[in-house]
Amino acid sequence: MPATPAWPPKSTPRLFVEQPLAVGATLNIAGNSAHYLTGVMRLKEGAPVKLFDDISGEYLATIAHLGKRDLDLTVDAKLRDRELSPDLWICQALVKKDRFDWIAEKACELGISRFVPVLTARCVVDKVKDDRLRTHMIEAAEQCERTALPQIATLTRIEALLQKWPAERTLYFCDERGGEPFLDAITAEPGAVLIGPEGGFTDSENAAIRAHPNARPVSLGPRILRADTAAVTAISVWMAKNGDWSA
Ligand code: SAM
Repeated sequence: MPATPAWPPKSTPRLFVEQPLAVGATLNIAGNSAHYLTGVMRLKEGAPVKLFDDISGEYLATIAHLGKRDLDLTVDAKLRDRELSPDLWICQALVKKDRFDWIAEKACELGISRFVPVLTARCVVDKVKDDRLRTHMIEAAEQCERTALPQIATLTRIEALLQKWPAERTLYFCDERGGEPFLDAITAEPGAVLIGPEGGFTDSENAAIRAHPNARPVSLGPRILRADTAAVTAISVWMAKNGDWSA
C-alpha cells in the first residue's frame, strides 16, 4: 500500500502576515507576498500556504481566489502555537550595512528574542533602517520556520544602554581583550551578548561596560573575530548551553 503523502507538502510556502490570524478567517494578500506566491511559486487556487502572525502561532491556509495583483486566503487550521523564544538578546554595535543585515538574519535564525542596535564611538555608520532590519528578520523567520519574530529595539548609544540596563539581565560583554571563557560564564538567567564594531570599543567604553554591575567580560577564544563572526559565535554558544537546542 503506497504511503499517503504528508499534508501540507514540505514545499508549502510560509509567510508572515501583519494581521492576527484565526481559524475561519479570510485575508487578502497583495504586493510582494502575492507576487511571491503567484509569480515565483506559481500557486493556483486551492494551494496550501502556511501563515504566522507573531501573535498566536502558525496556521494552514488555502488560496481561495487569485486576483491580478492580489489573492484571498482562507485560514483552515492552526498548526502550532507561537514559540517561546529563548531569552537571549544581542546588543550589536553598528557595522557596515551588509554585514549588519547578515548579523540580524543569523541572529533571527539562531533564535534570539531581541535585537538591540548599539551606537559606539568607533561605529563607521551611525544610523540603521528599522524597516530593512525587520524585512531581513521576517525573511529569516519565514525560512527557518520560527513562529515568533525577534523584537527590534531602536538604535541606542552605549552610554544609554548601560544606564537603563534591566536589573535581571546578565550582559555578557564579548571582549577580545580578555574575559572569562564564555561557555563557563553562562548562567540560567536571561542574558544578552554585547558585540563591538569593526574597530572595537574605546578604552573608556570598555571601562564603562566593565564597571556595570550586570556586565560579565567574556572571551570567545584567543583569536580576534570579526564582529559578525563574534555575534554568531556568542549566540550559538549561549543557545547550545542555555537555549532550546537540546530536545
Ligand atoms: N578591536 C579589534 C580591532 O580593532 O580589530 C577587534 C574588534 S572585533 C572586530 C569586533 C568585536 O567582536 C569586539 O568588539 C568584540 O565584541 C568581539 N570579539 C572579537 N573577537 C573576540 C574574542 N576573541 N573574544 C570576545 N569578543 C571578541
